[in-house]
Amino acid sequence: MDYYVVPIAEVARSLKTSSAGLDPDTARQRLAEYGRNQLADTRKKTVWQILLHQLTDVMILVLIAAAIISGVVGEVKSTYVILAIIILNAIIGFVQEYRADKAMEALKKMASSQAQVLRNNQATKVEASDLVPGDVTLLEAGNIIPADVRFIEAHALKVDESSLTGESTNVEKNPDMLPDGDYALGDRLNMGYKGTFVTNGRATAYVVATGMNTELGRIATLVQSDETATPLQKRLAVFGKSLSMAVLVLCLIFFGVGWLRGEPLLNLLLVSISLAVAAIPEALPAVVTIALALGAKRLVKSHALIRKLPAVETLGSVTYICTDKTGTLTLNKMTVQEIYESPTFALPVLAISNGLLTAMALNNDVVKDEEGNWLGDSTEVALAHYAAGREYERMKLETQFPRIAELPFDSQRKCMTTLHQTPHGVLCITKGAVGVLFDQLDAGQESSIPDLRQRVDALAEQGYRMLGYAGKLLPELPQNVVPATLESGLFFIGFASLIDPPRQEAKRAVAECKAAGIIPVMITGDHKLTAKSIAQTLGIISSVDDLVLTGPELSKMDEPAFDAIVEKVRVYARVDPEQKLRIISALQARHQFVAMTGDGVNDAPALKNADIGIAMGITGTEVAKEAAHMILLDDNFATIVKAVKHGRRIFDNILKFIRYIMSGNAGEIWALFLAPFFGLPIPLLAIHILWINLLTDGLPGLALAYEPAERNSMKRPPIDPRQTIFADGLGWFILWVGLLIGGATIGIEAWSIHSGIGHWQTMTFTVLCFSQLGNALAIRSRRESVFRIGLFSNKPMLGAVVFSVVLQLLIIYAPFFNTLFSTQPLTVVELGITLVVSSSTFWAVELEKLIRRKTAVSISNHLPKPNPLAS
Ligand code: ATP
Repeated sequence: MDYYVVPIAEVARSLKTSSAGLDPDTARQRLAEYGRNQLADTRKKTVWQILLHQLTDVMILVLIAAAIISGVVGEVKSTYVILAIIILNAIIGFVQEYRADKAMEALKKMASSQAQVLRNNQATKVEASDLVPGDVTLLEAGNIIPADVRFIEAHALKVDESSLTGESTNVEKNPDMLPDGDYALGDRLNMGYKGTFVTNGRATAYVVATGMNTELGRIATLVQSDETATPLQKRLAVFGKSLSMAVLVLCLIFFGVGWLRGEPLLNLLLVSISLAVAAIPEALPAVVTIALALGAKRLVKSHALIRKLPAVETLGSVTYICTDKTGTLTLNKMTVQEIYESPTFALPVLAISNGLLTAMALNNDVVKDEEGNWLGDSTEVALAHYAAGREYERMKLETQFPRIAELPFDSQRKCMTTLHQTPHGVLCITKGAVGVLFDQLDAGQESSIPDLRQRVDALAEQGYRMLGYAGKLLPELPQNVVPATLESGLFFIGFASLIDPPRQEAKRAVAECKAAGIIPVMITGDHKLTAKSIAQTLGIISSVDDLVLTGPELSKMDEPAFDAIVEKVRVYARVDPEQKLRIISALQARHQFVAMTGDGVNDAPALKNADIGIAMGITGTEVAKEAAHMILLDDNFATIVKAVKHGRRIFDNILKFIRYIMSGNAGEIWALFLAPFFGLPIPLLAIHILWINLLTDGLPGLALAYEPAERNSMKRPPIDPRQTIFADGLGWFILWVGLLIGGATIGIEAWSIHSGIGHWQTMTFTVLCFSQLGNALAIRSRRESVFRIGLFSNKPMLGAVVFSVVLQLLIIYAPFFNTLFSTQPLTVVELGITLVVSSSTFWAVELEKLIRRKTAVSISNHLPKPNPLAS
């Protein structure tokens, strides 16, 4: 049905509803009938698909082929072991991927939007996915339209439909029926569509279509390409490809050399395949996703909700945090400290004794709930509360002077106006930023401005938020209720100074930021002096080089001038949300990595363009949340810093994982590749290699994700997002640790063969296995000794290593595994020797860290000492 060409009563009839909304029972039935109001997620995998995914990996298929070949040529024992390893691998992979999927699902659910509906004439909030056709939904600026709707009533309603129509100008909507005809989507002015958003005004509307039946649902397949690979994953994918090629070439050489030496072909083939499977790090990108998803799950506990997974990885790279002031750095608990009433404004005709208190009560949108609490914007609550305490109660005054029109507050105009009917005409009251009001005053008032400005600045300098009031009496309601006619020629009524205390934890968080090489920047719509004072209290401004810039100053600057100072600006005051974009681009042009907070509709472009867009969870609009990479559930600046700290830890741990896996794999390659060149037999059987790969890559690798943050993680500069994964000596580490593990392995092989020890292969196998476990323990920290961070500070790692050692001992000593793995029990001396040799990797990595620490100290001793008196 074309709902836009029928009268609204007809719409209600056909949807079997009324303007009072559905009753909850009918809504429930319809939900069962029509399904959830959400787009079908084609990417969502079922449990079976996850399982199948584990088994259809190329490397696993190669292994299955190897198992079959072994079976066919009568090596049934190997077939069983390889199959068991494949199954164990699949189980580990499945559990990880399933957990990561669940974590992501939970995050998505937490970030899902809500909708206001009338059910049985009662306004309630429901999950947007619970909406059904026939529901009456209430919409206001900042809301994403949750389903396709036909408007019942609309006030100053404007909708941004660019996501559907590509049209960037906002469309004014109204509830009027359209004459019969064919209308393109953008011309259906009485309809709203799922996924578009309200930029202005408010409306009530009938839901006419939900989920895949909406216009968005029809094109949903086109828009589901949201999640992209993270920068690290992209780099790993490229790196992985070249590494795989290199490993394949090495395996081919290994195979060729073995063949020339006359090694038994089947064994040679199986070992080559196993080596390729073990050494090609094909799972790395997937492991990164899993680590990020689980990291995101943990971030929620610190009140940071991740909407876009790559944000977890890039949080650690943030160099600038541009944050709002109100509510983020301050408590958003406003109290009126004092008021000043202008002696020149009097309204004797209205018999009002105090014009300022009247204006404070009337020009206000707060409401009182049943318990008598004021609800609304905290600035307004403070003002209404103050006036009410002096017998100027909003509700009472409104019955006397009813509001007949208004220009709602907008952060660009920085003021709002209300119009009230009085017996002597229409009273027009404007409230807003005092500086802005000065420009709107009647010309005759100009002489009083310097004195007023002085009073206002003196208070603003002490950190007070200043709100001014001005007004005029009009003979009648003007035809056009627009700022140009109403917010000009005004008479100053007075001002109020409000205090909004800084958050205690913000000061500490600012200091922590600075120590971590991150520059906190305050962006506020507030007065320059107010902003500066609060920035000084919090430590955001701490030297004369730290600049304060206002929006008007910024708009007068050209690009080169702004670029030259952008890195020094610590406070932007009186800025428009649009200017946030300019700040981001200027910083990004200087290779800064910018996190930016925002809450309003106008903030959405900035949130999208920032490297990390952060929306406020409590005060943020849905549009801002939708555009953001992360949502601050408690609106608190300190939470951003906590999230950065977690981000650094998660990134560090992923790098440690890569380090660990790569150096271990390199050890395996060196051992097998080099042995023939020393005239030694192939050191291991195929199943030994696969076993080591399963054991060492599995649990200890995973346990690295539980590694706590390094002690200096917030005392070092941010990670450069453009840096290669080989920065910080990864390539070098892989080379020397790999060679060490490989060397220890063939060393013990050569020695035991030379000494005539019959158990040489078991010893070699065990050395390779234990060396990697030692590596896992030492790799836990990049700088600190494991003895300093404590063996117990990562209990999962300790557990994983102990468990792996026990399993390896079982393989050495349990007769059943002896047969399966062709191993023999070692004597105490033999075991002791293997332990000593394999521990060399642990000690060597610890020694490298010691040398790093020593050189770092001696370098810092030679650096000029910071002046303790300089702030
Ligand atoms: P921040 O950007 O730090 O969160 P803010 O709340 O000061 O700060 P806006 O909400 O954009 O930013 O407000 C800008 C200015 O508009 C305020 O400094 C104040 O002078 C004025 N203002 C804020 N709220 C109202 C209101 N409800 N009515 C009239 N003027 C207001």
